[in-house]
Amino acid sequence: MPRLSEVIAALDDLWPAERAESWDAVGTVVGEPDQEVSRVLFAVDPVQEIADEAVKLGADLLVTHHPLYLRGTTTVAASTSKGRVVHTLIRNDIALHVAHTNADTADPGVSDALAGALDLNVVRPLVPDPADPGGRRGLGRVCELPHPLTVRELAARAAERLPATAQGIRVAGDPEAIVRTVAVSGGSGDSLFAHVRAAGVDAFLTADLRHHPVSEFSADRARSPLALLDAAHWATEWPWCELGAAQLDEISDRNGWDLRVHVSKTVTDPWTAHVASAPTSNAMGAPN
Ligand SMILES: [Zn+2]
Repeated sequence: MPRLSEVIAALDDLWPAERAESWDAVGTVVGEPDQEVSRVLFAVDPVQEIADEAVKLGADLLVTHHPLYLRGTTTVAASTSKGRVVHTLIRNDIALHVAHTNADTADPGVSDALAGALDLNVVRPLVPDPADPGGRRGLGRVCELPHPLTVRELAARAAERLPATAQGIRVAGDPEAIVRTVAVSGGSGDSLFAHVRAAGVDAFLTADLRHHPVSEFSADRARSPLALLDAAHWATEWPWCELGAAQLDEISDRNGWDLRVHVSKTVTDPWTAHVASAPTSNAMGAPN
């Protein structure tokens, strides 16, 4: 059975902490380096539900994409929600390790997992990491569809292949437009519009797109007839959990560790319900 420090070293090889953004908070949050690890749980969010799931599973290590404390704290009192997570983990000898923007830009990374879930062929990073001479690391991915789809069909595929959330998939653009190339970015993609425009793709799939960027982008659609697909943030990043778990599984086999690696299927997207407006003539789905 490996020690936590050995498993963390393997995770750091996959997602080196120094490749995280300067504002990010990645790495080990909770854990004794010498504790033994036999069971690992991957999840997007280090929230109480996930900590409870890790306890139930008998996990020794929880690996999440989002940091527990991004901006620092002066208390881990169990009367705070995050402090309660810390207490739950420590009381049950569960370590917590975070791979966030260092997993976003990795090869393979969060957007490779998203592209893989939709059967897209990755061509290159949307925003290449200048420090990577191989040109495979970076933010987002530019992808080709093996067979062209309409925007409506691509949205339907995303709705079917990504885990179900209350939000589903929001679309901006002509539902019948043909998509041959698509940029994808797991998580919030608002800041990537200029790169998407420069990539000259037919569509952009990401999460958390806000009114003004979408409105400005749509107004310019005559110049670049690009469709926007907006999925739930959690859903766009969840495929990375399966990817990361498979990567750790392989490392475990190679090292003769016999780790049990699990992926949480608990939906931790904070939006919990969606009510469609009354049907309108330009709705994607025909009213019935
Ligand atoms: Zn995220």
